Amino acid sequence: MGEVKPVGIAMSEQLSAMSEALNASKDGFAIWRVKHNSHNEISGFDLLFINQAGSAPTGREPEALIGHELTDVVGAEQSEGLHKLFELALKDGEPKTEIVKVESPTGWTGLYENTVVPFGTDEVMTTFRDVSEERREHQRLVWLTEHDYLTGMPNRAKLESYLAKCLEVAKHDGSLAAFVYVDIDYFKNVNDTYGHDIGDRLLASFAKRIRHSLPESALVARIAGDEFAIVLEDLRDRAHLADLMDEVFRAMQRPFNHDTPDLTITCSAGAVLTDGSEKTPEVMRFADKVMYQAKYEGRNKYLIDVRLASK
Ligand code: GH3
Ligand code: MG
Repeated sequence: MGEVKPVGIAMSEQLSAMSEALNASKDGFAIWRVKHNSHNEISGFDLLFINQAGSAPTGREPEALIGHELTDVVGAEQSEGLHKLFELALKDGEPKTEIVKVESPTGWTGLYENTVVPFGTDEVMTTFRDVSEERREHQRLVWLTEHDYLTGMPNRAKLESYLAKCLEVAKHDGSLAAFVYVDIDYFKNVNDTYGHDIGDRLLASFAKRIRHSLPESALVARIAGDEFAIVLEDLRDRAHLADLMDEVFRAMQRPFNHDTPDLTITCSAGAVLTDGSEKTPEVMRFADKVMYQAKYEGRNKYLIDVRLASK
């Protein structure tokens, strides 16, 4: 008698009354009883109750799982993390939540949010819900805040935070970085001559060409309209930056055939080579200035502003 806790009885009575409601829930719900070894250490957890939603990812019915050990119910790999989480909730005497990736025997994979609530010292209640969709939506929203919808390239927000990081690294490591503004020459003529849709497609192709003409480590972003930006890290010197800019300009010489006979364009660019001694807004301002200088000098060219405090 003494070993059966009143809490356990009250809970099982409540459970039988609640089981119908719990089985209708989309969230998983389970109760586990702690097992101890001869040293009174926790050796495992036996399943006392699980609802339909909880058993679904295992591919088995609740009746086939109740009475089984945690490892048998969720598999060896998943059980390790859960075991630790259960133990922690019991040790601290408070609920714990964790997101775990589940690869179920039925082939379903997704993310589960597990919340573990300790009951006294020898039972834990777990609720778990599939948060895969929520997470995907969250990731999609994060992606949208950092990218330009038309070209799929990073946008100004992402660019600025990335540039700030690169300037810090350059300053810290004594390496060189560059920031470049690139703007298409007379882009309005493309819209006026071929229409806005062709203009849009040209912007997307233009972005791709810049991307492919540079090393993987370069960040290429669309800032606005026909204006793009590039961040380059680990540059050796001015000649290294000039070589990369030559690649970008060479890539633009091929025509863009978007249902258009040989549509060719040129662009102008302003680059700043920096050792990280200036902050992001200053570097962007210098690049803007040299880009407009390139426009002023007749377009279809790039100019480089070398800003090295030590030189
Ligand atoms: P410049 O050589 O001085 O750069 O001349 P430009 O004609 O390229 O003029 P500017 O860069 O100032 O203007 C860019 C134009 O791009 C203005 C706008 O009509 C067009 N534009 C802006 N955003 C979009 C877009 O999303 N799609 C399309 N198709 N056109 C856009
Ligand atoms: Mg332009």
